[in-house]
Amino acid sequence: MDMESAGLRLLAKAGINIASAAQFARYHHKAGVYCPQCQRWADLKLHELVMRGLGDRPLVSLPLRCRECGAPGELQVRPPAPAWGGATWSVGA
Ligand SMILES: [Zn+2]
Repeated sequence: MDMESAGLRLLAKAGINIASAAQFARYHHKAGVYCPQCQRWADLKLHELVMRGLGDRPLVSLPLRCRECGAPGELQVRPPAPAWGGATWSVGA
């Protein structure tokens, strides 16, 4: 993992999301937007933001609004999930 990707992961873990849509797309991060009024999630289409010329702007600076009710969306950034994290699970009886 290169330094920029490692930095993005640290920022996301700390809840500090200052990176641009282009950076997140490049490093396979995902972003979701939650509407607290409608209680619905939507995935932010990072490549679409880049195509619209918004790729260089920090995600937190984008005025994300719900298409249904117009409420401001809450941004959630997700670093890429590892293919195999080594965790094992059991269902308690
Ligand atoms: Zn809504």
